[in-house]
Amino acid sequence: MTNTFNQDFKLGILGGGQLGRMLIQSGIDFNFNFTILDPDKNAPCSTLAEFSEGKLTDFDTVMKFGSQCDVITIEIENVNTSALRELARMGKRVFPQPEVIELIQDKRVQKTFYKNNGIPTAAFVLTENKEDVARLAKFPMVNKLGKEGYDGRGVQILRGKEDLANAFDKPGLLEELVPFDKEISVIVARNENGQVETFPPVEMVFHPEQNLVEYLFAPAQISAEIAQRADRIARDIIEKLNMIGLLAVEMFVTHSGEVLVNEIAPRPHNSGHQTIEANVTSQYEQHLRAIAGLPLGKTDLIMPSAMVNLLGEPGYSGTARYAGFEDVLSVKGVHVHLYGKKQTKPFRKMGHVTILDEDIDSLKKKANFVKQTLKVIA
Ligand code: ADP
Repeated sequence: MTNTFNQDFKLGILGGGQLGRMLIQSGIDFNFNFTILDPDKNAPCSTLAEFSEGKLTDFDTVMKFGSQCDVITIEIENVNTSALRELARMGKRVFPQPEVIELIQDKRVQKTFYKNNGIPTAAFVLTENKEDVARLAKFPMVNKLGKEGYDGRGVQILRGKEDLANAFDKPGLLEELVPFDKEISVIVARNENGQVETFPPVEMVFHPEQNLVEYLFAPAQISAEIAQRADRIARDIIEKLNMIGLLAVEMFVTHSGEVLVNEIAPRPHNSGHQTIEANVTSQYEQHLRAIAGLPLGKTDLIMPSAMVNLLGEPGYSGTARYAGFEDVLSVKGVHVHLYGKKQTKPFRKMGHVTILDEDIDSLKKKANFVKQTLKVIA
């Protein structure tokens, strides 16, 4: 019977952070059995499912973990893909596929993929070391590390010769500084039947110093034409990658109305948290549907929403406490998600808040209120 759903499989997630936690939260509705691998025994998923402590980058650890799973997925890209390739060869269903994870692990390979596939992205050159950067830089430029730069740590703007001393001395790239009006994101999913669904574009507002998303608004306040172009780019990428699972595509909208791809992430994404309340299907459920071989869900927006990341307040480290918790819960349309992290430190992602409101101005006011009122202290 093709239409009978066999839930009797074990789904392994590499990484036990908040994205894994929200995947579990969603998968409970489908009776999925989860098993989690994370190096931190106190990871946000550790008490929610079968849990193993171990390094995601270690071949033997990932092999041992994956051998007991039927489907294996990730919530972070920094994992051992040789083990995932081996597991796929053994017949395990590994989604996103190991080759896609490898492409995304290295910004150099990612950018080269865009260039070779006609996907619009900022002009760039590859660099091997500091000397290359000094030789090739035309200021201002953006210098990026190829590998292992997360949350803005592998990205810096070089404004003039005086910044060359800080240039990355490892394989990386130099990219044009994009004069952008907005940063937007489109989350797209694809299943094994080739069905593709996109979420409506959302708009990100970044913190000026930390390079982390400060606010997010959905729907993005862009023209229908730009939204359509962004949608087409996201579909084009997932199809050209032949990828199964969920892919977040971050893009710049330039002053002249161009849409350029900045980077992609093959998993649930910070820019999709609000889909839990604000869309017909959440990004988490969509990812699970895609990797479990199920039909994808509709993604329509139910109501405009804002999402505020809840970061550890600077100046506080230790056991987390949430000041203003009751004040924000008293506001209509406010949904708080805490990630189960006992210890806070400055700028650690401790949770997020989604706010729903039909009225955009009221929504922004509420987002500001949440931002100013709810603080993670120790
Ligand atoms: P990470 O992988 O650390 O998230 P990103 O490549 O997304 O790094 O860069 C972080 C932020 O830096 C972007 O969201 C954007 O605000 C800024 N940025 C990155 N590349 C460029 C660019 N070419 N031009 C202008 N700003 C950029």
